Amino acid sequence: MEKSRLYEYIDSRKGEIIERGRIFFDCAELGFKEEKTMDMICTELDKMGVPYEKGIAMTGVKATIGKGNGYHIGFAADIDALPRKDGAGCIHSCGHSIQTAMGLTLLETLVKTGFIEEANGKVTVFFTPAEEFIDFAYRDEKIREGKLEFRSGKQNMIALGCFDDVDCILSAHANGDTETKFDIGSTLAGFMAKKTVFMGKSSHSGAAPHLGKNTLHGAMLCLQAVSFLKDQFAPEAGLKLNPVITKPGGDVNMIPAETIVETYIRANDNETLFEACRRFDACVEHSARMLELDHEIKTTAGYLPLRQSDGLNAVVKENMLAFCGEKDIVKDPVSGASGDVGDLGTLLPTVQFGFSGIEGRFHSDEFIIKDEENCYIDAAKVMVGTIFDLLTQPEKQVRWEGFSGKKEQYLAHLRQNQ
Ligand SMILES: [Zn+2]
Ligand SMILES: [Zn+2]
Repeated sequence: MEKSRLYEYIDSRKGEIIERGRIFFDCAELGFKEEKTMDMICTELDKMGVPYEKGIAMTGVKATIGKGNGYHIGFAADIDALPRKDGAGCIHSCGHSIQTAMGLTLLETLVKTGFIEEANGKVTVFFTPAEEFIDFAYRDEKIREGKLEFRSGKQNMIALGCFDDVDCILSAHANGDTETKFDIGSTLAGFMAKKTVFMGKSSHSGAAPHLGKNTLHGAMLCLQAVSFLKDQFAPEAGLKLNPVITKPGGDVNMIPAETIVETYIRANDNETLFEACRRFDACVEHSARMLELDHEIKTTAGYLPLRQSDGLNAVVKENMLAFCGEKDIVKDPVSGASGDVGDLGTLLPTVQFGFSGIEGRFHSDEFIIKDEENCYIDAAKVMVGTIFDLLTQPEKQVRWEGFSGKKEQYLAHLRQNQ
């Protein structure tokens, strides 16, 4: 079969594909609450005759097509939305509904054209809940109830073994660009959250400050050290460390007995992220020790930085060039954003290309899908073309060794830093 047959199928269904995208855009639900979205996905899969498993990590869906022991491609599609800033429900202001629509488009195309029947290999679309790292009260309640282990969809799906027999991960995300068509090789920052408590002794601040132990002083020493620390990392490491004092307020006639400093630590690579965490802890410990204060540090794992697979991206890029010139593709942009696809990228060769077509700021109520043709049609063709190449040209397939060891290490990291 020629690749053009897949494009022709998408063109022949253009109206319905775009309409389906609009319907999913209008169905905006927060992470692990995507019940309607999950049911709509399953209804579409039923129509295509594609088998699936639903309710994975509460609201995730996994649909596999193809057969044999050949290359097994995973496509990860986020399905969750964000709260509207005006309080009126939710909105897909990160464009995840476009990924959901893309997952359905590629399954439909690969099945209906008969391509997947001919191919030696499999494609699994993972409709993954809760990519946005928000709404912790709800998620922590579900963790206590034993319905989830972690706060993000992909983290839970990794722990549940969903990706154990997959060779690579493909994904795509809307970008904020208005001048170009696609981006490729983007980084995503990783982050960890720190909550530090300095514990001292309260006392009358006029009559007997010397009898207290002022925790604000410890926190200030620590913040000073942290700001100097940032100087010791190269700019390309992308270290971002902006602590805030979240306690005390307190009364002005008392020596503050407890001060809390919280921060996210962000970086472009794992080495920097873990090194910065270690050094931050040292700043806290030593500041506390200088003033004989007690301290506690709680570390919470966020997402890991994304490093994409060059080999897979070479295939993606060839497929982009079928629809645009070199100048319409942004190469290797550095992004300060984070995503749980970064976690997958430490376990499996992974790509996440970007596509333009959005107007209005991301994560705002002004987010609009302006160029539906690029978001729903051309981006889907790039993905379908990439899958075609990977399944028909084995020399382009990228595989990594040692998945289970890496997964064990990864889960230990998450469990230690919950
Ligand atoms: Zn987002
Ligand atoms: Zn997003």
